[in-house]
Amino acid sequence: MAQGIPNEVMVNTALTKELADVAKDAALLQGVLMRIQETPNSSEVVTYAPFTLFPTPVPKAAFLQALAVQTHFNALVDKISQDPDFLRDALASTIAVDDFTARLYRIHQQILKEGRSQSIMLGLNRSDYMLDQKEDGTSSLKQIEINTFAASFGGLSSRSPDVHRAVVMFLVEESQRNIFDQRYIENELWKRDIPSIRKQFDDVCKTGSLDQDKRLFVDGLEVAVVYFRNGYMPQNYVSEQTWDARLLMERSLAVKCPDIATHLAGTKKVQQVLARPGVLEKFFPDQPQVVEQIRATFAGLYTLDMGPEGDKTVAMALAAPDQFVLKPQREGGGNNIYGSQICQVLEELKESTERMAYILMDKIHPNPAQNYLLRRDTPLQISNCLSELGVFGAYVRKGKDMVMNECVGHLLRTKSSEQSDGGVAAGVAVLDNPLLV
Ligand code: ADP
Ligand code: MG
Repeated sequence: MAQGIPNEVMVNTALTKELADVAKDAALLQGVLMRIQETPNSSEVVTYAPFTLFPTPVPKAAFLQALAVQTHFNALVDKISQDPDFLRDALASTIAVDDFTARLYRIHQQILKEGRSQSIMLGLNRSDYMLDQKEDGTSSLKQIEINTFAASFGGLSSRSPDVHRAVVMFLVEESQRNIFDQRYIENELWKRDIPSIRKQFDDVCKTGSLDQDKRLFVDGLEVAVVYFRNGYMPQNYVSEQTWDARLLMERSLAVKCPDIATHLAGTKKVQQVLARPGVLEKFFPDQPQVVEQIRATFAGLYTLDMGPEGDKTVAMALAAPDQFVLKPQREGGGNNIYGSQICQVLEELKESTERMAYILMDKIHPNPAQNYLLRRDTPLQISNCLSELGVFGAYVRKGKDMVMNECVGHLLRTKSSEQSDGGVAAGVAVLDNPLLV
C-alpha cells in the first residue's frame, strides 16, 4: 500500500490477529459502541461499532479541499431552503411521480402558506465524497451526496444558547442500535445543563400538541429543538398519524433540525439540478470562487425528466450501465441501482413518467486499498476496500443572519469493494480514519 501501512504488516496473520484483539478492546474502552442486532433496544449486551483495523491513506490535499468547501455547502443548502420557487421547480417532476417526496413537499407548502413560525434554523449536514481515480494516476474529490437529515450532531451543542429554555427532543427510531452515537450528544448537552428527551413518532402522535403560540409540547414538556434522527424513509411513516405528527412538529415554534425545506434541499433531485450550468451562480451571484469550489466536487449528474434531455440520459445509461448509478429519491442505503439492473429498470420505465423519480449519476471509481474490517462474529480476513469521506457542517441562522457556519468534523467509512451500496447503519461499511498522505 503506497505510503500507507507496510505490506509486511498487512499480510502478517499473527500480528494482525493480535492487533485486531487489542483494537477491539481499545474501541470498547473508548466507547465506540453499538447495541447488537438481536437486542437493538437493550444495553445488557453491546459490542464495538464495526471499524477498520488500519486507517486508510487519504491524500491530504483532497481532505483539506473537502473541509474547505463545507461552509459553502452549508450556505448553499440554507439558501435553497429559503427559495420556495427553486424547490418548486427543481422538484416538480419528482413529486409528480414519487409519493414520498410529494408528501414531504405538501408539508413544505402548508408551512409556506401558514408562514414559518420559527426564524432560527439549525443545520447539520454531512457531505459525502469518494476520490475518483483518473487514468493519469491522480484523483479528484467527487461528492456522492449531501445529507441534510439525521447526520450526526458534531460539535454544535456548545453553540446553542437559545435552547436553554426547554428541552431538546431527539426524535428517534423504534430500533435503537446506534444509541451510543446519540448518547454522546445527549451527554454533551447535559454537561451544558441542557436537558434532552428521546421520543418516537408514536409519542408525538399520542402526547404532542401546540399551544396558541405554536409552542410544541410532548409528554408535558416544551420542546425547544427537535433533532430528527427518524423520518427520512417512507417506512418511518407507519400511519397517517405519523404524517400528522411530522406536520405538527414542522408547524411548531420549535427549532427543527432540519426543517422541511432543508430536508427537501437534501434530495438527490436537487443535487442533480444544482449541477446544471448556471444554477450555482444564481445562489452565489458575486462569488465565482465559491461556485468553482463547489462545482469542482460535482460528478456528472443527469436528469431523467421527460423530453429530449432525459431521453439522452436513458440512451447513455443503456449504452454503458457500468459507468453510472441510478438513484431514486431515497436515503439510508441500499436503494441505488447498478450495472445490468440499470438496464432492466430503464427498459421498463423509459417511456413512462415514472422514470422521473430517478436521477442518473456518473459512477465514481475510488482506488481500492487493502484492510481488515472488524465486525462482531466475523472472521478476520483481508479485504479489498473502498472508502467514503464525510464532512460535517453545522450552522445557525437567525432570520437573515448566519450567526454560525462551520466545518465541524469528518468521518471516514470503508466497505469491501464487493459491496456497491450502503453505510455503517446498513451493516455494509465500517468506521475508519484517514491517514493523511
Ligand atoms: P444514500 O442516501 O442511500 O446513502 P448515496 O447516494 O449516498 O445514497 O449512495 C449510497 C452508497 O452507494 C454510497 O455510500 C456509495 O458507497 C455508493 N454510491 C453512491 N453513488 C455513487 C457513485 N456515483 N459512484 C460510486 N458509488 C456510489
Ligand atoms: Mg449516503
